[in-house]
Amino acid sequence: MAVVERFKSISPAEFFYRNKEIAGFSNPVRALYQSVRELVENALDATDAHGILPDIVVTIERDAQKPYVYRITVKDNGIGIPENYIPDAFGRVLFSSKYVLRQTRGLFGLGAKMVILYGQMTVGEPAEITSATINSSKVYMYRLMIDIKENKPLILEKASWPNKTGWHGTIVKVAIEGDWGRAKQKILEYFKKTAIVTPYANIVLKTPDNEIIVYRRVTEKMPPPPKETHPHPHGVDLEMLKSMISETKAQTLLEFLEEEFQGIGRVIAERFLQTYGFDPNVNPKSLGKEDLEKLVKALREYNEFRRPRADHLSPIGAELIKIGLEAILKPEFVDAITRKPVVYEGHAIIVEVGIAYGGAIQPQEEIMLLRFANKIPLLYDEKSDVAWKVVAENIDWKYYGIEFPAPLAVLVHVCGTKIPYKGLGKESIADVPIIEHEIEEGVRAVARSLKLYLMRKQREEEAIRKAITIIKYIPEVARALATFAKSNPVNVDRETLEKKLFELVKMKYGDAIKNISSPWDIVMHTE
Ligand code: ADP
Ligand code: MG
Repeated sequence: MAVVERFKSISPAEFFYRNKEIAGFSNPVRALYQSVRELVENALDATDAHGILPDIVVTIERDAQKPYVYRITVKDNGIGIPENYIPDAFGRVLFSSKYVLRQTRGLFGLGAKMVILYGQMTVGEPAEITSATINSSKVYMYRLMIDIKENKPLILEKASWPNKTGWHGTIVKVAIEGDWGRAKQKILEYFKKTAIVTPYANIVLKTPDNEIIVYRRVTEKMPPPPKETHPHPHGVDLEMLKSMISETKAQTLLEFLEEEFQGIGRVIAERFLQTYGFDPNVNPKSLGKEDLEKLVKALREYNEFRRPRADHLSPIGAELIKIGLEAILKPEFVDAITRKPVVYEGHAIIVEVGIAYGGAIQPQEEIMLLRFANKIPLLYDEKSDVAWKVVAENIDWKYYGIEFPAPLAVLVHVCGTKIPYKGLGKESIADVPIIEHEIEEGVRAVARSLKLYLMRKQREEEAIRKAITIIKYIPEVARALATFAKSNPVNVDRETLEKKLFELVKMKYGDAIKNISSPWDIVMHTE
């Protein structure tokens, strides 16, 4: 008997409905964490990437009747969403404003929709989106679900009202099945780490236990917003080149290269075309298959293009990293470094590393590694992340004066328009040699600075110990000398002798004993 296979295709919404695990929605614990995270990341993208100091309020409520149902509300003061885009932004999988070359937290055009899809599968209530763009005269509200078969929004209700207060921003409310008890720790960790890299944000979290956790803005300084950029020639492939050619207004190949790519000026374009024997005046739209293949190959291998620019990236900056680490971890020592941009598959990547030591950080057997990619904290799959490999395997901490258990935290931030995540849940970064190298160089730089600090501290402590030993004897010595002096013509009294001797010790040990005002401070303490 002949077996007849039945073929059909499914929509992107249905694909992710069937494979929710790959986007991080594998169970109620993960789903609650992932939902909060996706919505918060959208809120941050809508604020700091546009120069707005973020004010974000997250509320997680447990349903009174059904304790496994949670309502998540995330409110931001961002740029808002134009009314006509709201339904697609939240109801069409793989619809995004972030498919451009500019660093954002969002990447896949998936996050908000996954939250809504998951809510739809587990609870079945529509999502509610309220938004106003900057200067909008109205506030718009949609209640919608996703038509999974068609991958399009199903609008159930729509309303608008006058924007009397001039508010701008977005409020997203979704009901999902969750498990706060078991997700709590990860969610709190997520907020804490987010606060470290966004010290310029006000973030409020209201939990189902009616706790209110507040991360207050500690600085108004923000990283400069990322600019949009053109692709770098080393990152193109055949399909990309075809679509760029079909969209360009350039009339000649020379113009096309100059206008649509970064890293190619007129002189370089001319030289490049000459090297590979292309006619600079040919219309790019007239190039045949073989020419296109030859062009892609040449673009990818030619070494004289300028390196990819990095102004479409938005590193946090060493200063903000230090402020964030200081505010949240309260260590005794911090340092941070932003490395120069490097190139990974035609995309610029910047690695930043911070270090925090001592103070309120508790000594731990393993290093406390704080991983971030495009300002997103990465909390799962730590051991398979390239940053873990560097701090746990490549670096010998003893060389830097650290013995575990140690009160040591290392922060690693990788930013770029192309991050080699190991999955769509964005939880760990793959082991790419150039990234590993950058992280390692960064860690070594801040570890050296910690080593210097620890050495200085040790020297100071030794000096204090020595000085104290000497100072302790001053009253004793002064008394003896004074007695002796009485029978002498000089006749100096005990107090003066004490003062003189103390000044001598101070001259030698200076700063180390600046807190000691008289020998008696110590004599009293030690006797
Ligand atoms: P991604 O963030 O990867 O683009 P999402 O599904 O999370 O995908 O969001 C889709 C789009 O909806 C975003 O690209 C953005 O344009 C818009 N959006 C989502 N949330 C917000 C928000 N809080 N403020 C402004 N725009 C938003
Ligand atoms: Mg998103």
